[in-house]
Amino acid sequence: MSNWRVVKTSDEKISLAHGAGGKAMMKLISDIFLKELKLKSAGNVGLDALDDGATISVGDKTLVLTTDSHTIKPLFFPGGDIGRLAVAGTINDLAVMGGRPLAMACAIVLEEGFPMEDLTKITQSMDATTREVGCALVTGDLKVMERGALDGAVITTTGVGVANTLVTDRGIRPGNKIIVTGTVGDHGITILAHREGIAVDVDLTSDVAPLWETIEAALKVGGITAMKDPTRGGLAAALNEMASKTGVGIVLRESDIPIAEPVRAMGEMLGIDPLQITNEGKAIIAVDARKSEEVLAAIRETKYGRKASVIGEVTKNHPGDVVLDTVIGGKRLLESPIGDPAPRIC
Ligand code: MG
Repeated sequence: MSNWRVVKTSDEKISLAHGAGGKAMMKLISDIFLKELKLKSAGNVGLDALDDGATISVGDKTLVLTTDSHTIKPLFFPGGDIGRLAVAGTINDLAVMGGRPLAMACAIVLEEGFPMEDLTKITQSMDATTREVGCALVTGDLKVMERGALDGAVITTTGVGVANTLVTDRGIRPGNKIIVTGTVGDHGITILAHREGIAVDVDLTSDVAPLWETIEAALKVGGITAMKDPTRGGLAAALNEMASKTGVGIVLRESDIPIAEPVRAMGEMLGIDPLQITNEGKAIIAVDARKSEEVLAAIRETKYGRKASVIGEVTKNHPGDVVLDTVIGGKRLLESPIGDPAPRIC
């Protein structure tokens, strides 16, 4: 018997869950990217930190670098479009690391037959969003694939920022307060409802927005220990990541988590927890308890932070877990979703 048969290759294939930001994606990242990419660092925060971006040390400056692809369907939705999403997503990943956005690059892949008018609208939207934060889009690339090879458009943005105060997602300490900068679940629930055609006569709007002004206001007060934008997998995935990376627990008071009423109602109808779905204009900010009221007040003064709230705190208990004190007086574990209940929402 020959022994070549014992050499096994993997016949596993990529599934939508691998791109959903949950446990399946984290496993893929560690099994392939962290294993195969040997050079992982150009500064304090490298690839293996699995943070919102990485840092590059240049002299005494800390640059922040991040990139993100956008595959949302539909391309235009209540509250925004793929252009605003692509710019805001990258601005926010820079911002949550303390990076003031400096410049952006953009790669667009279009399907043959894509309407020129839509491309113009998307570009105008990118322009408006970059101008909100004064971050110019300075270089880009355009490719076209044959009809059917791609569904409409994929936009990838890369951003570079400079961090005077570098903030990672692993700095939370017991006693810290957890602030969320506004209502959660808006983007994911809006896209799903819109796509299912059940968003008629409902006040649902994506929260997609660039958060630099909001985050800068928080940074100016000080006391910030960690930040993250709760995108794929929502508040649940982001907080679980922060807790497990640091080995501390997080306790949330369900009644203090801001959720817009139409989002709550639509979430129930769709069977989707607003805590487990994408936000595109929100940040989680962990802050020293002594500064929390001042930081909260500063955030609430900003355009995208008016509904900010302290939703819980960091604890030494149950390390690595996120526990929800529910409105009915019980406790439940808030878990990171395995996949995303809906593909292509960001
Ligand atoms: Mg992020």
